[in-house]
Amino acid sequence: MNDNFVFEASKRPSCLIVESKKLFPVRRIFCVGANYVAHVLEMGRNPERDPPFFFAKPPDAIVNADTILNANIPYPPHTNNFHYEIEMVVTIGKTATNVEPEAAFNVIWGYGVGIDLTRRDLQKAAKDKGRPWELGKGFDKSAVISSISPVSIIGHPKEARIWLAVNEVVKQDSNIDKLIWSVPEMISILSKTMTLEPGDIIYTGTPEGVGPVKKGDKVTGGVDGLGEISLSIS
Ligand code: MN
Repeated sequence: MNDNFVFEASKRPSCLIVESKKLFPVRRIFCVGANYVAHVLEMGRNPERDPPFFFAKPPDAIVNADTILNANIPYPPHTNNFHYEIEMVVTIGKTATNVEPEAAFNVIWGYGVGIDLTRRDLQKAAKDKGRPWELGKGFDKSAVISSISPVSIIGHPKEARIWLAVNEVVKQDSNIDKLIWSVPEMISILSKTMTLEPGDIIYTGTPEGVGPVKKGDKVTGGVDGLGEISLSIS
């Protein structure tokens, strides 16, 4: 324990890594909104290619949820509309300031799959008033994630099925080649607004088909080649 701290500092949240016993330490969690046209439409927004927008979740919202882990998420308080959003996740392995898209691949450590859990009613209330989204997006256990596949093993996926099912009924089924803003474009834009550091991760947006879960539901999902996750809601 650091003697200068008034109490013991919490441990750094982390993700598992495919084919490794080491862990990926999480520094910050960024999320991209409205990054698949069909999801933009279902949320009632304009599908024009507006610049991407970002929000954040606290690092300790991370829940490791590889299928083997049988992760459980308690239904959170203050919502009656608790939504799933399956997303590809990209993780950063090098400091990045002002990188151009062509150079952005060099700062990627790996890829995974995650669920951006959302209290949709709180998000909508905030959105309607032009207020921040934190209570709708950044609550406990809201950042579900798989093991991370390092670029050294899988390279940079260009196209792959992305899907999610609730109680084995498929609700989201798309392909990462439909991202409006590509991974290097997102990294480039973020890196021009702040310095990205190793451990930062980015949830890259969800395809269409988002919807609610209730207590007792089992949620499964994945991106082909990047792993599968599952969780139960209690
Ligand atoms: Mn999302």
